Amino acid sequence: MKQEENISLGGLKTGEGGIIISKLDDLLNWSRLSSLWPVGFGLACCAIEFMSTASSAYDLDRFGVIPRNSPRQADVMIVSGTVTFKMADRVKRLYEQMADPKYVISMGSCANCGGPYWEHGYHVLKGVDRVIPVDVYVPGCPPRPEALIGGFLKLQEKIRTESIMRPKALEKLMKKDAV
Ligand code: SF4
Repeated sequence: MKQEENISLGGLKTGEGGIIISKLDDLLNWSRLSSLWPVGFGLACCAIEFMSTASSAYDLDRFGVIPRNSPRQADVMIVSGTVTFKMADRVKRLYEQMADPKYVISMGSCANCGGPYWEHGYHVLKGVDRVIPVDVYVPGCPPRPEALIGGFLKLQEKIRTESIMRPKALEKLMKKDAV
């Protein structure tokens, strides 16, 4: 294969003789963003849209997104629904049980900011980012499956720029120390 016919695979380059040359960062990021495994849980009506997104009509599997039943096997948390004060603790515990690097998608107005319960919902957390860090916010009440897929594409873009020299967990720790 000639040099000008090289194929680009998300930052990886295949060259003559089947040799692949890439940065370690690109290789790790490519493998991470191609196999995002969300925790299979939901909190309210938005979870129905999450389930639809995983159905054959929308086929999340084609992005390598496969829901897992254990937080220990997952690297993405989709907060799909209303986070009540009672559930906030559980959501935080699930997040802490996930291994690093891990990511959070806040799906829908309730998880983003309290949604319809913003003003009078005495029992609702006004945004899940008050208990866990959020990487991508998906707006809507509820967001359609296409919007959640858009959220995953956004997350993939974010992961593509990560570096092992700046691990996310270390960055978070340093931010905490700086406060
Ligand atoms: S954002 Fe709307 S659809 Fe989603 S959980 Fe809240 S009320 Fe239900």
